[in-house]
Amino acid sequence: MSNDLRRMDIQYLSGVGPKRAELLRKELDINTFHDLLYYFPFRHIDRSTIHHINEINGEMPYIQLRGRFINFTTAGEGARRRLMALFTDGTGTIEVVWFNRVRYIQDSYRPGVEYLLFGKPSPFQNHFSIIHPEIDVYKSETVPQGLQGVYSLTEKLHNRQITQRTMQKLVGNLLNTPVVQHVPETLPQQLLAQRNLMPLPLALLNMHRPTSIRDLQRAQFRLKYEELFFLQLNILKYIKGREERRVGFVFSRVGDYFNNFYNHVLAFPLTGAQKRVIREMRRDMGSGRQMNRLLQGDVGSGKTIVAFMTALIALDNGYQACIMAPTEILATQHLESISQMAAPIGVKVALLTGSTRKKERDHIHKQLQSGELQILIGTHALIEDTVQFRNLGLAVIDEQHRFGVAQRAKLWRKNTTPPHVLVMTATPIPRTLAMTVYGDLDVSVIDELPPGRKPVTTLMRYEKDREQMYRFIGQQLRLGRQAYIVYPLIEESEKLDLRALEEGYELVQETFPSYRVAMVHGRMKPAEKDHQMELFVSHQAHILVATTVIEVGVNVPNASVMVIENAERFGLSQLHQLRGRVGRGADQSYCILMTKYELSHDTRHRLEVMTQTNDGFRVAEEDMHLRGPGDMDGTQQSGVAFNLQVANLAQDGQIVQLTRDDAEAYLRNDPELTTPEGQRLDRQLRQIFDKQQSWSEIS
Ligand code: ADP
Ligand code: MG
Repeated sequence: MSNDLRRMDIQYLSGVGPKRAELLRKELDINTFHDLLYYFPFRHIDRSTIHHINEINGEMPYIQLRGRFINFTTAGEGARRRLMALFTDGTGTIEVVWFNRVRYIQDSYRPGVEYLLFGKPSPFQNHFSIIHPEIDVYKSETVPQGLQGVYSLTEKLHNRQITQRTMQKLVGNLLNTPVVQHVPETLPQQLLAQRNLMPLPLALLNMHRPTSIRDLQRAQFRLKYEELFFLQLNILKYIKGREERRVGFVFSRVGDYFNNFYNHVLAFPLTGAQKRVIREMRRDMGSGRQMNRLLQGDVGSGKTIVAFMTALIALDNGYQACIMAPTEILATQHLESISQMAAPIGVKVALLTGSTRKKERDHIHKQLQSGELQILIGTHALIEDTVQFRNLGLAVIDEQHRFGVAQRAKLWRKNTTPPHVLVMTATPIPRTLAMTVYGDLDVSVIDELPPGRKPVTTLMRYEKDREQMYRFIGQQLRLGRQAYIVYPLIEESEKLDLRALEEGYELVQETFPSYRVAMVHGRMKPAEKDHQMELFVSHQAHILVATTVIEVGVNVPNASVMVIENAERFGLSQLHQLRGRVGRGADQSYCILMTKYELSHDTRHRLEVMTQTNDGFRVAEEDMHLRGPGDMDGTQQSGVAFNLQVANLAQDGQIVQLTRDDAEAYLRNDPELTTPEGQRLDRQLRQIFDKQQSWSEIS
């Protein structure tokens, strides 16, 4: 018996046929019985309730009304032609509007007949109207019972008469077929019992047509659990496979470079977290496996030194290292801070970016190939094929979310054996999630700031407070401090934004006639940008007006004020990054979020999170709750294909952890998935993940 729902063409479902199948395929990518079965409603409504028109308010989702049409009128011409009708149930009237199929509607519905109307009331001027409702002649038995699914459908489907009602009927037919009613269980029996999970056929039924809210929740839990369980099983299997496969250079010793630096150059004690992370990396690099590690640490937590000391271990073992940054400004800053540390111990460092001149570039290429150059710092220019190392042993990638997987892979081909890879990010995400999102990376965390840092005070201010804000900047400047003023720059409105920035620049110049103001934005030539930046870094300029080009990495410890204009236009993690530009010295620093007065609830909440905490992990977690992990920096490019349908990594953190524990326990008993049940799980895994062009391919 073929009970493989993935192979059963949707056109053979009762009520579908070739034409509708074509539509479902094109509009919703539903090709098979399986696809429709897993096309879950995005909401459920209780259709046993009939509302009264006089109870309608602006908050209501879809509702059901019972009454009669009073009259039909048409308005507009051609494409703008529409049909309107008044509908009454005795408690009031509501307007019903159609924008197409006017003739058909007019012919189908008659005044006086009692109908059941289903739709979403929307406020229009001073009354409510319903656009394109579903309509049935009312008979007491036509009132559906229980909860009904509401599916996401397209305009085109509506126009071709695949409405919510049609979908509900089709799904009903599907749920009535024996193959669906006997769809085989996918999870181990023992887990079903242990976690009290709903059996699969019942869960599927309850996703579409739950008997109660509680059953719906149990069904959702069961399907989320299943999805995450297989995801974790896949990740764990992959990690295990990688451990067996991936050969790496063995860095067995810590030698003179490292020890000289540590004992004679390092000006401050490392934090406990920095020491721990360096130990973790030494262990990785000595193991014979290739290191592939993500280092998370909040802005200012001291990742650069950790990267440098890791590079010294590579040098001590006779290898070269490179450090890649996402922007030229950042790469230049890395060069400066790293040169200072490298020079006293006689380590040779160079910078390679897109604007390095040919003569200099040729020189660098030569020195790299001879091995004379030990640490190369740079931008994307580093991964070009013309850049060849004599013996690259370690690649450090700073702020990895700007680098795609393909670029990372390119780096790996710079030596016969791929170099150890250290990826650093200041956008921390919770550990379990990191392991899931960056499935191929091990994770280290610097969860401690160097001592003496004062938390940045964050405030929200409105346009009416502008003068007061400038007075405050003035006070800080008189104390010898510097200030950033950052403007948003979003591509669609780039010109407008640029004007806002330039106007802001002029206003700031007028306001502070006795101070020098620098300006940086993405449209500038690199040389001009560097010049302006340099003015600020060297304290010749006191205020820097900029777009987010300064977001990552710029280090000016003397700056104590960060003003963010139109803060409502920035995402949380971006705000946190910007805030991290201040609070780097010993002085109290301030971050001022300038916003409009009227903000949506979500936006206000987002900005309030900033005023409440300096903890990057909390900010990241909030960010995830607000936006979902798919939108978080880095996750799109992380290379992990996760097409989660029911689970949500941000909201279902507990189930993520639960399934990870369960998957680990399962693999302890059946490490190779060789028992009959294990083999079944393995087949299931392949079915789910082979299609998704697995992320295990990225290396
Ligand atoms: P990030 O993690 O944001 O890249 P950096 O590496 O730029 O942070 O470090 C921020 C500043 O803190 C630098 O000036 C660095 O020299 C300093 N720093 C790093 N580690 C320590 C430490 N253990 N004690 C004191 N200062 C430190
Ligand atoms: Mg940094």
